[in-house]
Amino acid sequence: IVQTQAVRKSFGTNEILKGISLSVEPGEVICIIGPSGSGKTTLLRCLNQLEKIDSGRIHVNGELLGYIEQPDGSLMERSYESLRQQRQRIGMVFQRFNLFPHMTALENVVEGPWRIKKQGKAAATAVATELLAKVGLSERENHYPGQLSGGQQQRVAIARALAMEPSLMLFDEPTSALDPELVGEVLTVMKRLAQTGMTMVVVTHEMEFAKTVADRVIFMADGVIVEQGTPQEVLQNPVHQRTRDFLSRVA
Ligand code: ATP
Repeated sequence: IVQTQAVRKSFGTNEILKGISLSVEPGEVICIIGPSGSGKTTLLRCLNQLEKIDSGRIHVNGELLGYIEQPDGSLMERSYESLRQQRQRIGMVFQRFNLFPHMTALENVVEGPWRIKKQGKAAATAVATELLAKVGLSERENHYPGQLSGGQQQRVAIARALAMEPSLMLFDEPTSALDPELVGEVLTVMKRLAQTGMTMVVVTHEMEFAKTVADRVIFMADGVIVEQGTPQEVLQNPVHQRTRDFLSRVA
């Protein structure tokens, strides 16, 4: 569902991604782990074109992201509308929940399908109600973000992303801004989502989640993929010293 080839990205003279090649299969759950500053967030942001890459290619759902390849092999930037359509199919959940503060939980979830996908309001509301029930928030539909706990807000953010019917969900440290007692409820929702067959790429520091939910764990450091494999391989029998050092620090 995703293929990246030799993706590079710099900010100024600082090269953050140094040639990332990775593929994500339909239904796969990938957890990306690694030290702070290793480029995990930047990689996720590149996967939905929140950041433009400097070189390399990213294909999502079989299409080149952000560009159209010309017959002579050169790349032409996609129109705004075409890029928007590509991005619509990629859900993203951020560290900070980024809900619209002046809208209720329900309105937050209805907004995308109604305004962007142009679904009827009744249909969008029915789907939103169902999604909020799935994340355990039926009772909170009419609350504003300020009236919800961090864990509840993050669950609304997940429902909001799902309302756009994405083929891929990206999570950027979705529990790292939460009080410890609220982490579990968000991870439970994510685990259930994984069980439905959703394709997920999750940047996380939650090793237990990676161990039990991921199909594949990727360890990144200094802008490269150092090693990847099953949770068993990477978390329990890492081949590289850098992976071992990192795991011994976070364990
Ligand atoms: P963390 O776990 O702390 O979130 P990370 O592995 O996700 O770390 P990134 O957030 O991708 O790392 O950041 C990698 C580096 O890129 C950092 O040194 C950061 O300062 C730098 N960086 C990220 N975004 C920008 C930007 N917009 N402009 C300049 N530098 C940036």
